[in-house]
Amino acid sequence: MSLYADEIIRFSSVLKMSYNLIAGRDELKRKKLREKKHLISVALPFSDLLFGFPNLIPVFPIRMEVFKVSKYLSYLGSASSIFGWDNVSKILGYIKNAGIKEVSKVIDDIIDGVIETLNEKYNEMYDIGVERGISSDFCFALKTLVGMHVSKMKNVSGTLNYSIRCSAWNKYLESLKSIKSDVKQIWLDIPPRNIGNAMGLLEDNIRSALTDLEDISGNTYNDNQLREHFKVANQIRRDYKTIIYEIGASDFYPCNPATFSEILALLSISFQDYNSNPIRYAQNIHQMVNEMRERIKKGIGMDVSKYKKIMVTPMFGGWEPKTHEIIYQLGGRAIYADWDVLKFLDDIPISSKSDPVEAYAQFLSDVTESGIGCDNNVLTDSYIRVAKQLKADGLVFNSLFGCHSVSNCYAMLKDKIRRDLEIPSISLTFNRIGDNIEQVSTRLGAFMEMLR
Ligand code: SF4
Repeated sequence: MSLYADEIIRFSSVLKMSYNLIAGRDELKRKKLREKKHLISVALPFSDLLFGFPNLIPVFPIRMEVFKVSKYLSYLGSASSIFGWDNVSKILGYIKNAGIKEVSKVIDDIIDGVIETLNEKYNEMYDIGVERGISSDFCFALKTLVGMHVSKMKNVSGTLNYSIRCSAWNKYLESLKSIKSDVKQIWLDIPPRNIGNAMGLLEDNIRSALTDLEDISGNTYNDNQLREHFKVANQIRRDYKTIIYEIGASDFYPCNPATFSEILALLSISFQDYNSNPIRYAQNIHQMVNEMRERIKKGIGMDVSKYKKIMVTPMFGGWEPKTHEIIYQLGGRAIYADWDVLKFLDDIPISSKSDPVEAYAQFLSDVTESGIGCDNNVLTDSYIRVAKQLKADGLVFNSLFGCHSVSNCYAMLKDKIRRDLEIPSISLTFNRIGDNIEQVSTRLGAFMEMLR
């Protein structure tokens, strides 16, 4: 029996989000071809400005791919348009409960397939990136992003390029031009420090990016629409934090801990483009919180008080997805909270600043100064902040091969963890999904042993 499938089908919100992630291709195609909207490629959670336009659609490019299970998920999607997702989820749950073996196995294959197929696709993109000649020194994330653009850049009208502290990231963005030169590159430089006139400069850069986007859109961006979007974006962020901290740090989970980690991984990937429809995403994630709370209230789920809480980070640039399953088998529960470490889950301060450009400039400046763009000292403090808030029992640091920026601060972090938190930590190296599972297992085994 599949561990994930058996539980994931009980959450209609998770089903919906998986569907929008894996089977979103048809919807994107329809928006582009029938509704004449423009798809804009984004990576990292930098999609917000696009929602100020009526006809620009952000897309994390892997979503334009065909996945092995897309067809079956589409059947579920069709069923949902007749019965609604809640009923689809109930019917699937009924089939599983009734133990109808053959059908149950098909459901397992589909749901397990979501995770597996996504990982296979990541590796496929990695291989395309390498074939394209990207330097072998680049990290997994950049190789896969190059692969995604080689494969699907033909479908987009532009790419939204935020420069960050990582020079390899900025080089990758520059290389997009050579993949397809007629696709418009919209650049947004974020000053590394909020000193002098940096905020004014950042506001100018945002306005200039908006003007470039207006050229693609053919519409002027709408202040009100952007303001309304930021409110929705903030709701998403609050619900996301509730899942990490209220549910993730509690002693009773609404599901098995490995399934919970799987849901956190799904959120981490899908948050980057809010599945191209933030209002729908906000509804889904809010429903997810409600479904989780409801199950906990009814005592449905699992007492996880004896499972050690292990913060696994950073994973946004690529990690071994088997990690959380291995940790679970060894008596732990893996928690992924990268976007909060990097400050992307902070509110966009639209309630204190009525001009959305000013509010977004403030948000980007904060993310840069104390999150993704900050120096290792501040970044390591952020890891500690999140580990403390989670009351983590241990920390697994995922050191990405080729990353000289976000994941090269383990030496400094290790000292701070020992000094400030007095919990053990370990660093694992990661290059490509599936390459190193035995070693990961062995090292995690020794690590979890220390926690007993
Ligand atoms: S910070 Fe590291 S993981 Fe992120 S893009 Fe740069 S090299 Fe890759």
